[in-house]
Order: sequence, then C-alpha cells, then structure tokens
Amino acid sequence: MLLVSEPIVGKDEKAALSEVVDCGWITMGDRVRAFEVAFAEEHNAPDAVAVSSCTAALHLLLVGLGVGPGDEVLVPSLTFVATANCVLYAGATPIFVDIESLDSPLMSLQDAALKCTTKTRAVILMHYAGYLADRDAWREFADARGLLLLEDAAHAAGVAGAGGFGDGAAFSFYGNKNMTTAEGGIVIAKDEGALDRIRQMRGHGMTSGTLQRLKSRAATYDVTMLGYNYRMDELRAAIGIAQLKKLKTWNEKRKALTHMYRRALEAQCPAVRVPLAARDNSSHHIMPIVLPPDAERQSVMARMRDDEIQTTIHYPPAHQLSFYRSLYPSVQLEETEEFARRELTLPLHPRMEEGQVEAVCYALAKSLMRRNY
Ligand SMILES: *Cc1c(COP(=O)(O)O)cnc(C)c1O
Repeated sequence: MLLVSEPIVGKDEKAALSEVVDCGWITMGDRVRAFEVAFAEEHNAPDAVAVSSCTAALHLLLVGLGVGPGDEVLVPSLTFVATANCVLYAGATPIFVDIESLDSPLMSLQDAALKCTTKTRAVILMHYAGYLADRDAWREFADARGLLLLEDAAHAAGVAGAGGFGDGAAFSFYGNKNMTTAEGGIVIAKDEGALDRIRQMRGHGMTSGTLQRLKSRAATYDVTMLGYNYRMDELRAAIGIAQLKKLKTWNEKRKALTHMYRRALEAQCPAVRVPLAARDNSSHHIMPIVLPPDAERQSVMARMRDDEIQTTIHYPPAHQLSFYRSLYPSVQLEETEEFARRELTLPLHPRMEEGQVEAVCYALAKSLMRRNY
C-alpha cells in the first residue's frame, strides 16, 4: 500500500537512541538543549523551547503571551483541530476565518478583517501544506490592530521564513510531519521574556529543572506561575537532532515530487485543480488536490484504495466538527466548506519515486472516469 505519508527513521535514529540509553540521562538534558539550538538556527530564530507536542507549543504561546479569558483569537477552520483547541485551553474564544479561495486555501485577510472586534487579541496563521502565508500583508494587518501574530507552523518545518512572521510560532514533530520525533513540538518566539516564561511553564512553572539543579548545586526550587508538564525527553531530542540534519534534503525531494505531480496531473487529470500550483516557497508537506464538483470523493478514494493507494482529506473543517458545531452552531464559511468537500490528499513523502507519482495520477484518472460508465 502506498501511504499518504511515511516517517523515515533508520540507523541514524537507532544510533542516536542507543547513545541516550548508554549515557543514562533520559529526559530534559543536554540533547534537548542542543536540539533547541539547532532548530532555532535552522529557522533563523534567536532561540527555541522544545516541548511534548505542537499542541502544547500553541497552548504555551497563547498563555505565555497573555492571551486569556475574554479574548478572541482568529483561526482558520481549514486546519487540524488543535489550532482551535489551544485557544479554548487558554480560556479564549476561537473565531473561525474562511480561506481565500479553492486555489489558495490559506486564511483570508479580507474575512479576518470582517471578523475583528474590540476583543480580538491574536491571529494564528496556519501554513497549509507548507505554503507560507503572505508575511507582509499579515504583519500590516496585525500591527494596524495591535494583534499578536502567531503561526501554527506544523506543516512548515525547514521553510525559509517560517516562524519569523511575528510574535511566535509552533512546529510539530508528530510521526506524519516533514521531520519527526514520534511525538514532539517546539516554540520559536521573538521576545526573550516570553520565551523564558514559556520555558518555565513547560516544566510545571518551576524556577529550575533537575539537570540545572545538579549543575548549580541548588538545593531546591520555587514555582512562580501555573505551569504544565509539556517537557521533551532526551530520546526524542536525539531523534530530532538526527532528523533535522536531513530535513533540507527531504524537503527538496518533496518539492521535486510535487513538480512531477503537477505535470502529471495536468496531463492525465485536467479536470482536477491543484491549489497553490504556482508557489514554491514551501515544505511541500502534503499534496492536496481539488476534485471536480460532481466527483464522488468517497468512491474515488475507495477505487484508489483498491489500487493500493491511500488518500486522505485535509481537513474536515474544524467549525463543522460536532464539538465546535455545538459550541458555535451558526458559523458558515463558504470557501472552506467547498474546498473541504472536494479536497483529496495524494501520497507524498521522500521515499516515493517518479514512477509512483505516475501510478497515482493514472489511478486517479481511471477512478474519475469510471463514474461515467
Ligand atoms: C499536526 C498538526 C498539529 C498538532 O501537532 P501535534 O504535535 O500532534 O500536537 C497542529 N496543527 C496542525 C496544522 C497540524 O498539522
């Protein structure tokens, strides 16, 4: 079965893991710190805080930057549910914003402007499929209104400019992302004070960690804020360090495969639309396409599955999930709903070969045609 995504872990990661086991210090030690430094450097950021997930990173960013009850946060609905959940964790209210269009499924500035109120405190951009939002336009939007500008950069590891839009960014190292630590995430932020608070909040709000106390001979610690257990461990950091070294190469391979897809789709499936087709500043995290309006997506997916090809959907819109519908029943986002109704995600990962891209497009063309028989 050709899968939509596949983690690439092998002998480098095994070696890194056994080094940790041999050294005996298994959580929140020098490797976590080394990973933070390396990741920050790769993304042109002054520093970073590694945590247990991207969801934790988003939560800490909001709380660390002072977003809380009474505040509204603009979020896309065409995203993984965590982007909205973290706003609720902080006690604030997510306000769902539509996408620009079927060809540009990134958050719409125009709709965001319409949804601003006196309570709006922050906006969380999500770089869908790894394609960066328009930095200058969003910077201007946020500055004009005094809003925090945050990035859910879960799709965008390794892209020049990702994490550098505004006040803070969260990345994910979940198993299906461009680089993985199995589970994990990281925060990048501009403001050093905010980053210090986030670092402290990651470990229960304690003023020092176990390794710091060992090194400084401090006898005890204090807790000066409400913290969480969002720590990353040494095993994950060791995998992260190994993966980070390969990220650029993998992203280049994804880009080459994406270009092959665009050519093959144009030739074999002219009725299919390829969003963001003219854009290249991307991690090429996934390969989303938009099916013709009358295509039956369910049967297309089933037929492709019969050909041993997995396809998925990015995403069921957050505002249409039962939980969010029950909270905010009146939200309607025309473009998001149409995109999500027709979107199909094709397999894309660095282990794929050109022949597989051709095979996927052939299977897709075949399953789209079958409808007419
Ligand atoms: C994967 C993902 C997340 C959540 O990441 P975790 O590390 O699993 O918490 C959040 N937002 C988006 C857009 C994602 O793709």
